Amino acid sequence: MIVVIGSINMDLVLRVPRMPRPGETLTGSAFRTIPGGKGANQAVACARLGRTPVAMVGCVGDDAFGTTLRAALVADGIDVSHVTALPGVATGIASILVDADGQNSIVYAGGANDLLTPAHIDAALPLIARASIVVLQLETPLDTVRHAITVAYGMGKTVVLNPAPAASVPGAVLAQVDYLVPNEIEAAMLLGAAATPDDHAASAAAQDHAGSAAALQATGCRNVLVTLGAKGVHAALADGSRDFPARAVKAVDTTAAGDTFIGGFVAALASGADPAAAIDLGQRAAAIGVTRHGAQTSIPYLNELEPS
Ligand code: ADP
Repeated sequence: MIVVIGSINMDLVLRVPRMPRPGETLTGSAFRTIPGGKGANQAVACARLGRTPVAMVGCVGDDAFGTTLRAALVADGIDVSHVTALPGVATGIASILVDADGQNSIVYAGGANDLLTPAHIDAALPLIARASIVVLQLETPLDTVRHAITVAYGMGKTVVLNPAPAASVPGAVLAQVDYLVPNEIEAAMLLGAAATPDDHAASAAAQDHAGSAAALQATGCRNVLVTLGAKGVHAALADGSRDFPARAVKAVDTTAAGDTFIGGFVAALASGADPAAAIDLGQRAAAIGVTRHGAQTSIPYLNELEPS
């Protein structure tokens, strides 16, 4: 079993001719609600891209979005017995404006995701005990992520951490991670190169992928996969470093590209693939995902992938 611990959001997507100014009312179009959240996206990608059972641990509110999001996970065959609906709390949302040039402006409100506690992890211990791989991100409180990693590591599970959105993570936590999967900005943040994602030092650090991956590996995590968008993945694996180029496709929406890559990677790993083959499957899946719109709406199924 794969257990994914993390966020569950509804993406509220709206097209606008341009971004509104303060105090202005604009007319938008093509409003859609699309299931998202890094945790839920990764759980869905694991389920669609492999045959290993998947369970999700997370929180929604006791509102209509929470009900819909749970149902979406169930529709993908995911065990939601530890997706808790918290009374009187709003489900996490991301309000996403897309302008005529395809630029996004996003406001995220964590809601129930911010209330995932170490006690929820302890309640899910029987589930985690049955897992071979435990997958986490940083859209839920760091204390909870830290607790979950300590528990999973202590049980001898393979721990995969996607340190997104970008934040710093204590070295003691990274030392318990088997596969750390940051994008370029997140890798720079973990190395303490920047206070903000657009900081000059961050972009300098982001240029040196091999150096970043090696430096992160030196903090104690056994394998580091730095995702590089259209440039692919730089992997510092326990047995050496390699670049894996991405598939050449015409991207229309890169929402959930990283989540699709991670889901495919984890699903392949869970079915016994070696890391290189798992990276290849993740990239084949993400290449299809970026040609489609939305988060969970863009994640492909195993039978859609081109042979490697
Ligand atoms: P994130 O979405 O977390 O920022 P990336 O943008 O690095 O992650 O993308 C994750 C993976 O998705 C990449 O390693 C690559 O395999 C795939 N990918 C992303 N953008 C493209 C693209 N334009 N063309 C092909 N593959 C892409």
